[in-house]
Amino acid sequence: PSPTLRNPEEWCRSFNYFISQCLIKDFEARPSVTHLLEHPFIKQAQGKDVALQQQLAALILEQQEAGCKTKTKHERINTRKTLIIESCPDDDLVNLEFLDEETIISHLQKRYDELQVYTYVGDILIALNPFQNLSIYSPQFSKLYHGMKRADNPPHIFATADAAYRGMVTFCKDQCIIISGESGAGKTESAHLIVQHLTFLGKANNRTLREKILQVNPLVEAFGNACTAINDNSSRFGKYLEMKFTPTGAVIGAKISEYLLEKSRVIKQATGEKNFHIFYYIYAGLYHQDKLKTYSLPDRTPPRSEHQHRTVMQDIVSSKLYKEQFDAIQEGFRNIGFTEEEVNSVYRILSAILNTGNIEFASITTQHQTDKSEVPNAEALETAASLLSIGPEELQEALTSQCVVTRGETIIRTNTVDKAADVRDAMSKALYGRLFSWIVNRINSLLQPDMNICAAESGMNVGILDIFGFENFKKNSFEQLCINIANEQIQFYFNQHIFALEQMEYQSEGVDASLVEYEDNRPILDMFLQKPMGLLSLMDEESRFPQATDQTLVDKFEDNLRCKYFWIPKRVELCFGIQHYAGKVMYNVNGFLEKNRDTLPADIVVVLRTSENKLLQQLFSSPLTKTGRLRQLSMKNIEMKTIAETNRGITIQSPQKKNGNGNFSLRQTVVNNAGLFTVNVCVQVDTMEMMRHPEETTSMRRQTVASYFRYSLMDLLSKMVVGQPHFVRCIKPNDDRQALRFCKERVMVQLRYTGILETVNIRRQGYSHRITFEEFVNRYYYLAFRAHQMPETSRENAVAILQRAKLEGWVLGTTKVFLRYYHVEQLNLLLREV
Ligand code: ATP
Ligand code: MG
Repeated sequence: PSPTLRNPEEWCRSFNYFISQCLIKDFEARPSVTHLLEHPFIKQAQGKDVALQQQLAALILEQQEAGCKTKTKHERINTRKTLIIESCPDDDLVNLEFLDEETIISHLQKRYDELQVYTYVGDILIALNPFQNLSIYSPQFSKLYHGMKRADNPPHIFATADAAYRGMVTFCKDQCIIISGESGAGKTESAHLIVQHLTFLGKANNRTLREKILQVNPLVEAFGNACTAINDNSSRFGKYLEMKFTPTGAVIGAKISEYLLEKSRVIKQATGEKNFHIFYYIYAGLYHQDKLKTYSLPDRTPPRSEHQHRTVMQDIVSSKLYKEQFDAIQEGFRNIGFTEEEVNSVYRILSAILNTGNIEFASITTQHQTDKSEVPNAEALETAASLLSIGPEELQEALTSQCVVTRGETIIRTNTVDKAADVRDAMSKALYGRLFSWIVNRINSLLQPDMNICAAESGMNVGILDIFGFENFKKNSFEQLCINIANEQIQFYFNQHIFALEQMEYQSEGVDASLVEYEDNRPILDMFLQKPMGLLSLMDEESRFPQATDQTLVDKFEDNLRCKYFWIPKRVELCFGIQHYAGKVMYNVNGFLEKNRDTLPADIVVVLRTSENKLLQQLFSSPLTKTGRLRQLSMKNIEMKTIAETNRGITIQSPQKKNGNGNFSLRQTVVNNAGLFTVNVCVQVDTMEMMRHPEETTSMRRQTVASYFRYSLMDLLSKMVVGQPHFVRCIKPNDDRQALRFCKERVMVQLRYTGILETVNIRRQGYSHRITFEEFVNRYYYLAFRAHQMPETSRENAVAILQRAKLEGWVLGTTKVFLRYYHVEQLNLLLREV
C-alpha cells in the first residue's frame, strides 16, 4: 500500500524526523527545494506525487526560515523544540485516547507510512523494521539525542541508549537493554545502533578504543550469523555485550558473552539456507588475494562429487560483496589486536573444517570384519590433516575406530561408515564451536578495561542483549526448540518486570492500582525447564539410554507431559507441537537425541591435542571435565557474588558470610520461574557443575546440550537481573522484507503475543519507578535542600522534594515513593539544572 496522501501542512507537522533533521542541517547549511526533493524521505512521501512533494518542501523551508530569523542560538533551539514537540503529540501510545488494538495498529501504521519507525509505550520502545536505510543515525542525530528529555525529540533507538547511559551515570547502577522480537525484526541492527550511540556518549576520545568496540559486533557476527529462510543476516547465537564505563561515564572496554551457537549449521543447512557467513568471506577474500592454495582451498574446480565442500557453494568465489566483508573482517581482527599468526590459524582451521567436510567413507569387508570403513579420497583427509597440523594416519584412525576400555582392557572397535561420518561431523562442529568461543574470549581479553585507568570493580556497564529471534519454519528441529525456549524466557522476564513485580509491589506497599491481566507464560516455561519432569529433563534422561530412539523419546514426552501447551499430532510421525507465547510450532524429533548428546569421541580430542598448531592445542587442551567449580564474579564495591544453580533456579548471593556449619547467610536475589525475589536467608550453597565444553565424552557423566542450555539461560538471567532493564520490542511489519509495507495482520499478531496492549495499559495506569524514601531523598535532596546539608531521609522530606519539584500524580506507599515513568526524567532534568 502506498503511504496515505495527506495535506502537506499536516504531513509536515507530523513528520518530525524530517523537520528535526532539516533543523540540524540549518545550523550548517541551508538546503534548497531541489535539495529537499532529493531527500529519501521526501521521495517516498505523498504517494510519490511530485506536485505535493514540492509543496511540502516549500513548507519545510518556510518553517526553517521562521526558525532562522529568530536571533540567538538559544532561541533557535527553542523554536526547534516547540516545532518538534507540537508536531509529535502521538509519539507515545500511552497518550492515545482510545486504547483498543485497532486504534494502536492504525496509529502505528500511520506512523510507519511516514517512516516514523519508532514509537514509545511509556519507557518501552517499539521499533518497526523499516527495511530500508534511514538517514537518522548519523553523528548529528547522536548529538540531537544527547542528554535530552524524551519529549524533546521523536522516539529513537538513540533515546533508549541515552536513557540507559544517563541511568548508569546518575545512579551508578548497571543497566541492561533487552532487545526482543522475532527473527528478522531488527534486533541485531538495533544492537549496533545502541553501541554506536553509547560509544559516542562514552567520550571515547581514545579513537582506537572506539573503533575497536565498533568492530566487535561485525567480527563476531561474521562467525555467528548466517542466511536463513527468514533473514539474510540471522543471528545463530545469543549475544550479551557489556560496554564498560568509568564512574564518570567514559567508555573503557567491552565484554561479550555468547550463548548456544547453532553449530550444526557447519555440517548441514536446510534447503535455501547457508553456512555461517565467514566461510563465504574467506573463500572470496582469499581468492582475491590469490591465497586459496595457501589454505588448500580449491579454486573453481567443478565439484568432484556432491559432497565436495558440502559446506560452501563454489559460485561465491568471485563475489565482490563477500570480498569486501572479508576485508572488513581482516581489518577488524587487526584493529582489535589479533596477531597475524592467530588470524592465520583461524583461517587454517576454517579451511580444515571445509576440507573435513569432503572426507568420505566406504565400507570394506574382510574375512573377519564386515563393518569396517576406510577413506577412499585420501586427498581430502591429507589436506584436512595438514591444515590441522596432525598426522593423516592418526586422523583416519580416530575417524574410523574408537578405543574402548572395558575391565581394564583397551579394545579397538571399528566404526561403520555411518558412524565414521558422524564422528567426522562431530569433529567439524567441535572445531567450529571452540574456535568461535576462542575468538570471543580473545576479544574479551583484548578489550578488557585497563586496570590503570579504572579498577574493574568501580566500573559500571550497560549490557545489550541480542539473541536469535523466535523461529517457526516448515520443519523445526532441536535448534529451533532451544531458540524458542530462550525467547520464552526473555518474554517471561519482560512480563515479570512489567506486570508481576509491579503488581506484587503495589499490594505489599498498600498502593491502590487496578491490576492488569496479562498472558503469563510461566506454565510453558515450567513445562520445559522443570526438574525432573520437564521436557528438557526427560530428553536428558532418554539421551542417557544407548538404546533410545527418536520414537521412544516421543513416547516418553507423550507419557509424561500432560499440559495444554503440548500435544502429539495424529497421523504425523515423530512430531510434537508446542503452543508457545508467540504461536504454535510443530517440532520434528528426528535427530533430537543425537543433537542433545553432541558427543565428541575422546579419540578425536586426543589426536587434535597432538597438533603443532598452537591455537588448536589451546582449543583442545582443557581437561576433559571441570566439575564443582563455583562461579565467582567480582562486583562493584568489591562484593563477591556467587551463583549457584539449584533445583529451584539460580541464586545470586552477596555479600557472603560463612557461618560455622558451612552454610552462608546472605542477601540473595533468586531468579527462577516464579520470578525475581530479594530476600535475606541462610542457605547451603550448591556447587555448580559447569563444563566449558559440554560435548566432550567423559567416562563418568556427560553433559548434554540441554543441560548446558539450561545453565546458559540461568547465567544470562543472572547477568540481566543485576541491571536496570530497558526494553526494545522489534516488530516485523511484513514477511517479504519490503520497505513501506505494513501488514496489519502480522503486526497485530506480534503486538498480541508481546503483550503490547497490556503494556500500554499498565504504563498508563502504573507507577514504573518505585524508590525507597531513603534513596529518594539521597538522590534528590538538592532540589529542595541546601547541597551541603543532607536532610533526614524521611517520608516528610521526600514529600517536600516532590512538592518543590512540582510533580503531579505520584503516590506514597509504606516505604516507597511511587512515580510514573515520566517523573524520573523530569527529576533528573531538574537535577542537572541545579
Ligand atoms: P534474527 O533473530 O534472525 O537474528 P534480527 O531481529 O536480529 O533477526 P536483523 O538482522 O537486525 O534482525 O534485521 C534484519 C534486516 O532488517 C537487516 O538485515 C536490515 O536489512 C533490516 N533492518 C533492521 N533494522 C533496520 C534499521 N533500523 N534500518 C534499516 N534496516 C533495518
Ligand atoms: Mg539478529
